[in-house]
Amino acid sequence: MATNRLFPLSLDAKETACLAKTGEEEEAWLWHHRMGHLGFTSLKLLSGSKMVEGLPMITPHQRVCEACTKGKQRRETFEGGKSRRATRPLELVHSDIAGPFETTSIGGSRYYITFTDDFSRKCWVYFLREKAEALDKFREFKAMAEKEVGQPLKVLRTDRGGEYTSRLFDDYCREWGISHQLTAAYSPQQNGVAERKNLTIMNMARSMVKGKRLPKKYWAEAVQVAVYLLNRCPTKSVKFKTPFEAWCGRKPSVKHLRVFGCVAYAHIPDQRRRKLDDRSEKCIFVGYAPASKAYKLYNPETEKAIISRDVVFEEDSCWSWDEEVRNIKGMFFDDGEEEGGQGDEAEMGGAEPLSPPSGGSGVALTPYSSGTSSS
Ligand SMILES: [Zn+2]
Repeated sequence: MATNRLFPLSLDAKETACLAKTGEEEEAWLWHHRMGHLGFTSLKLLSGSKMVEGLPMITPHQRVCEACTKGKQRRETFEGGKSRRATRPLELVHSDIAGPFETTSIGGSRYYITFTDDFSRKCWVYFLREKAEALDKFREFKAMAEKEVGQPLKVLRTDRGGEYTSRLFDDYCREWGISHQLTAAYSPQQNGVAERKNLTIMNMARSMVKGKRLPKKYWAEAVQVAVYLLNRCPTKSVKFKTPFEAWCGRKPSVKHLRVFGCVAYAHIPDQRRRKLDDRSEKCIFVGYAPASKAYKLYNPETEKAIISRDVVFEEDSCWSWDEEVRNIKGMFFDDGEEEGGQGDEAEMGGAEPLSPPSGGSGVALTPYSSGTSSS
């Protein structure tokens, strides 16, 4: 996108059709982008079955989204298996580690670890510098989750990665009476829930980053937002409820969602302003800060993160990177960098690139209320 916020369009028949979009279609597109490129079938299910608050009725569309196409990697069929499902939260938790990523994240991480509750399919993600931090993150997750749900974590299912089979990990599980199930080596099917969740997360993260042409180091922000969104998306394993609701018993709201990676202006309080005209700071929207009910922004020029409730978004815009930055080989996930396919948790959308979602005026923010930690 050009710095003047106009989208250069070269018109051919297909693109002309885009310009004739109806308001309804634009709205569907906006939500496709806000929900991390969630497919229209899932969007329709979310809105039609009233699984979330604040989502308008969505009508499916046929067009192809370039970011979705690029973001999605080879499809792999995982046999889901007919293993017994948990009957309460924290009866069984699946965990997996992804990485190392080629590029260190803004926060200095090279891995992430997920914990997925079998009963609700709600997922939590933590970022790691080293795999050895897995036990610390598991401790943190266990304390938080048990406090939320008021029940003990019973079974943890993981693969045989060294980080899960260390003496310390073993001792910790024994101490807390957690049964640690290790899946057979080279048999990802057995750890299917965690593996599929990872694929779904990566597909969504890639689409969001590619959709906004962000550099690679934004992967962790995208992964975190993908997990946040997937907890508010339909999953095949829980009928007519989002994982969020299956976990805590109330419907999530999506009113506060904005398009990941768009340009956002953080209001600068009077006392911090140097000049009268510097009323806001231009940043990139990189996520939700649920604890403080605010948005996470990042200023690529100062390399500083900002948490703010007072934000104006330009959801159809992308940051204009200097040529220098843009030419760095492989923006974010290179095509083919990550093996894997479509998870079963949420179907990603198919639809078209060129047209930005909705007409561009910024939307003033009201603080939102919903959500749990990094989940
Ligand atoms: Zn898309």
